[in-house]
Amino acid sequence: MDFSEFLLPDFLKDNIRALGWEKPTPIQYLCIKDALLGKDILGGSPTGSGKSGAFLIPLIARLFAKKSQGIGALILEPTRELALQVEAVLLKLLQGQSLLRAGTIIGGGSREVERDDPSDIICATPGRLGEYLKKGWISTDEVQVYVIDEADRMLDMGFKDEVNSITAALKKRSLTMLFSATLEGRGIRDFAEVSLHNPVEVRLTAGEETAEKMPENLSARAYYAAGEPQKIRILSHLLTTVPERAIVFVKQKEKVGKVESALRRLRFSCATLHGDLSMNERKAAIRNFTEGNKSILIATDVAARGLDLPQVGYVYNYDMPPNAAVYVHRAGRTARAGQKGVVVSLVMGNEMEFLTKLENYTKVPIEKRAIANVCAAFPSSSKEGGSLGKRVSRASTGGHGGFDKKHEDKDKARKIKLRLRDKKNKGKPDFAAKRAKKALRKQNAE
Ligand code: AMP
Repeated sequence: MDFSEFLLPDFLKDNIRALGWEKPTPIQYLCIKDALLGKDILGGSPTGSGKSGAFLIPLIARLFAKKSQGIGALILEPTRELALQVEAVLLKLLQGQSLLRAGTIIGGGSREVERDDPSDIICATPGRLGEYLKKGWISTDEVQVYVIDEADRMLDMGFKDEVNSITAALKKRSLTMLFSATLEGRGIRDFAEVSLHNPVEVRLTAGEETAEKMPENLSARAYYAAGEPQKIRILSHLLTTVPERAIVFVKQKEKVGKVESALRRLRFSCATLHGDLSMNERKAAIRNFTEGNKSILIATDVAARGLDLPQVGYVYNYDMPPNAAVYVHRAGRTARAGQKGVVVSLVMGNEMEFLTKLENYTKVPIEKRAIANVCAAFPSSSKEGGSLGKRVSRASTGGHGGFDKKHEDKDKARKIKLRLRDKKNKGKPDFAAKRAKKALRKQNAE
């Protein structure tokens, strides 16, 4: 199956070819076929599956065949980065024709452009679009094609009411497509009920709808870190020995700056992405990373959600993700569109059980590694069976005994201290025993 089998305008076929897309991905095949016939789509698709093309191609084809007098298509995205990213693909797919124009209505963007002369296809965030509608700046009366992308994320971000009122006003639409990483849960079902009419449900694999999927060509590794300084040592060692484009995930925006300055001191130059940046700073960070001026991007989950950044070889969990779904999402920033990728986790002592959970959830084994003179092997734990408990010999860490040795030494010191205390107290009354006896007597008397 290739794109020539769909009834698409020539310019669109040329642009698809220019993007290097030879064959439709499974989600594209399933969606394009039905959406071109005007059937609503409820799509559950993993990260990096080609979802944008799946809704943009039929959207453009339908609008090109029958242009609206006004805004003809509306694509809702949860964040401005995603809206810009989809607009960028859209602009590539629209090249070579002059009938349809595309634009964005997003927070931080210029208000004038779309207010004074709205484009035919709008990528918008619900908050800003809601403001435009309330103020009567634009009309969505003529919208024929409507896309709600990342619906689960919209719900997480509290956009339910905004999205529902935007949906309710689109009376003339003839095609609606709703996408979400998961199709389960009441919120998504409510969204689908309000917005879709007899939808075709598209899932890549039946029964695997609850989770995003790990990319296929992905290896997972973990290193044991005793604290923050060691995390930096491991990270800088790996960034030096495997100089591939990398995204480093940290848990809060405050941490982005800390890790960035620690790496800067070690002469790494990094782009950063977090919630406090202005629109222009974000754009500059993404451009610096995408165009290759900076090969390391330090980001929080919210800021990097859904971004399609090309040729990321490594994803580092500098801080472990809050749950397995976020781990999968982070991992999905690499190994995109069939390329190889590695996800590396820096794991602290209290996070080792979480690794087992991640392996069970993703079914992708995590290889535990040590680095000579940088970090020791994972300490073994009785709770960890099989591969997780596997211990690299101390010799292979090449250090001075590392974590294990340090703990053995501490244990020895504690025993010596106890023996000395016992010796010192010899012959003295045992107050603890006395107190216990007194409590027992009191209890018996009551
Ligand atoms: P998406 O899931 O839409 O963010 O797409 C993920 C990546 O897959 C992007 O880098 C796209 O350019 C790429 N892609 C989308 N469709 C195809 C295709 N049919 N063939 C090859 N790559 C594709």
